[in-house]
Amino acid sequence: MKRREFVSKLGAGALAGTALAGCSRSSEQAGPAIIGSGKTIEWKMVTTWPKNFPGLGTGANNLARLITEMSGGRINVKVYGAKELVPAFEIFDAVSRNTAQLGHGAAYYWKGKSQAAQFFAAVPFGLTAQEMNAWIYHGGGMELWQEIYADFNLVPMAALNTGVQMGGWFNKRIDSLTDLEGLKMRIPGLGGEVLNRLGGTAVSLPGGEIFTSLQSGAIDATEWVGPYNDLAFGLYKAAKYYYYPGWHEPGTTLECFVNKEAFEALPADLQSIVTNAAKVANLDGLSELTARNNAALDDLVNKHGVQVLKFPDEVLKQIREVSEQVVAEVAENDPMSKKVYDSYIQFREQAMAWHDVSERAYLNARAL
Ligand code: CA
Repeated sequence: MKRREFVSKLGAGALAGTALAGCSRSSEQAGPAIIGSGKTIEWKMVTTWPKNFPGLGTGANNLARLITEMSGGRINVKVYGAKELVPAFEIFDAVSRNTAQLGHGAAYYWKGKSQAAQFFAAVPFGLTAQEMNAWIYHGGGMELWQEIYADFNLVPMAALNTGVQMGGWFNKRIDSLTDLEGLKMRIPGLGGEVLNRLGGTAVSLPGGEIFTSLQSGAIDATEWVGPYNDLAFGLYKAAKYYYYPGWHEPGTTLECFVNKEAFEALPADLQSIVTNAAKVANLDGLSELTARNNAALDDLVNKHGVQVLKFPDEVLKQIREVSEQVVAEVAENDPMSKKVYDSYIQFREQAMAWHDVSERAYLNARAL
């Protein structure tokens, strides 16, 4: 319901030439700015998600709403789901050439353009959500990300963190590494490279194509996000085992990128609004998924009969060893990846040291 109200508000705002016509406080704020500048900036946001998809599609909507509201309607953002304007995996190029001004996706989808981009989505056995935000905002990560995306005429921003994901949906048990051999699995980014090294075949598919691929047997297994998102896709109808933890995506950053010229054409206050709207959306997305995941997991188990299983410790330990090698090799083969890897690994060491005496010690204490 809330979403519908939001969509109709945006529609009304665009038609009337004043944003958020249904919201009197924002309309009052928007009035003088629009009269002063004479014109609303109309931006398009293309996404890799199905339109309005719970958690991710709605996360993109949330960011669009924040930019419009915080700017008092001076920037009006219209959101397009995957395939509405361009296919999911073409949004990077579309924003690069200013067909749309904003893109909402995940940086590991662009590894074919930049291997180093993958570090800004997720690294197997890498940073958690809290650590990822710390690296991006206060550990040098953002400067490196900006350097990579500048080559593509884009300005990147963190726009939603999923937290630790689930390990994925399988129709056979994973009791040892040999159970991964020959497995055709939808798993993106560096996690996919690790699966390939273990004898499986990683497939990259946008979210909207996962369920039918799993159901038809085109793939044997898949991961997506976590219980809230996976329940919405109905993945439990096509696989019986739901494994944890998501070793491959321990705190995935979903991104928003802005066409560089469109961003630089904004006055300083609007640049700050766009940048800070993304920060709000980044916090809000993690908060929403954290709030909803357990109820969804409960539904999966108790309403849909899903068997939730933990990867055996020995399997996780072996995957971690292979992951460390694979990620180091990516860095060896590409100078920009090496630069990012050095920053990331150094940051992870100090984050692990601090979290040994803070987060981990506390979580252990709470479980005593
Ligand atoms: Ca995932």
